[in-house]
Amino acid sequence: MDIEDMIVDLNDLTQDGVIECPYCHKGKTYTYSAKGKESSNCHICRRLVLWDFDQMKAYKAKAKKYVS
Ligand SMILES: [Zn+2]
Repeated sequence: MDIEDMIVDLNDLTQDGVIECPYCHKGKTYTYSAKGKESSNCHICRRLVLWDFDQMKAYKAKAKKYVS
């Protein structure tokens, strides 16, 4: 696939929410009709966060092991 095809202009999407990192409150996730949950590390403080798009909340998460 051409690398150009992988670039998305976020302004073309309808942003419907922002969730703050529960640790640092600086890291934010912007949602675009997202549903469900996602675990990922905050890009500011690097701590593991469970982002809940249904509740529009973020939780401090812990995992015994990482699955890739
Ligand atoms: Zn953070």
